[in-house]
Amino acid sequence: MTYGATQSAAATPSRLPYVLASSGKHDEPDIYISFAQAAVGPRWQGAGPGTSILFAVARPSSRGSVRLASANPIDSPLVDPGFLTEPDDVERMVIALGMVRDIGQAGALRQWSGAELLPGPKVQGDVDSRAFIRRTTGSFFHLAGTCRMGTDDLAVVDPELRVHGVENLRVVDASVMPSLLSAPPNAAVLAIAERAADLIGRPG
Ligand SMILES: Cc1cc2nc3c(=O)[nH]c(=O)nc-3n(C[C@H](O)[C@H](O)[C@H](O)COP(=O)(O)OP(=O)(O)OC[C@H]3O[C@@H](n4cnc5c(N)ncnc54)[C@H](O)[C@@H]3O)c2cc1C
Repeated sequence: MTYGATQSAAATPSRLPYVLASSGKHDEPDIYISFAQAAVGPRWQGAGPGTSILFAVARPSSRGSVRLASANPIDSPLVDPGFLTEPDDVERMVIALGMVRDIGQAGALRQWSGAELLPGPKVQGDVDSRAFIRRTTGSFFHLAGTCRMGTDDLAVVDPELRVHGVENLRVVDASVMPSLLSAPPNAAVLAIAERAADLIGRPG
């Protein structure tokens, strides 16, 4: 959600503040909300003066895929992020939109928020909100889980990051996460790397 500027943006620290909230439809906090001192356009199409409250489903039900395009290893893989393929994610985004509208209209933020630009006053009710979300949703690029860790038949790596059925090969990155985290993933990727360094350095 984006507001027109009521004052010029001051110099800000580079890190965006964010909060985790719950849609009430998941066991974990599943709504990620961050605040930006810019009027961000849909699908990251530029930014102007203003403020934005960005929101996302941090624990999506939708699943994308990465598949081989051919037997040639040089060919780029077929990547389908599968955004919003599960209606449950759209419903949780509608709940999140309501949450950030409440936050945006809070008295404490009044000095920074002017008129609501996006979605704007014409978007009211669940039908309009769903259409707005399908039209404008982009990605935070927190991709994970394409080489999921586990002990079942479909898992790619075991709990020590070793690829099932292949000797001396580990995967050490966001792809081993069994599911997305509630928070941005970079710190967890570093933790996976630290753990892998211990495992690889362990004698025997
Ligand atoms: C625009 C953007 C903004 C982001 N902002 C945040 C944020 O604010 N906070 C946060 O926590 N996370 C953020 N993320 C997510 C975070 O950057 C990733 O989750 C994290 O970097 C994933 O780490 P990784 O090691 O799994 O993959 P990567 O960091 O992508 O590392 C993969 C590495 O493998 C190399 N590689 C790929 N293919 C091959 C190959 N065939 N052979 C050899 N090397 C190869 C690549 O060159 C790359 O260096 C952001 C991501 C993007 C794209």
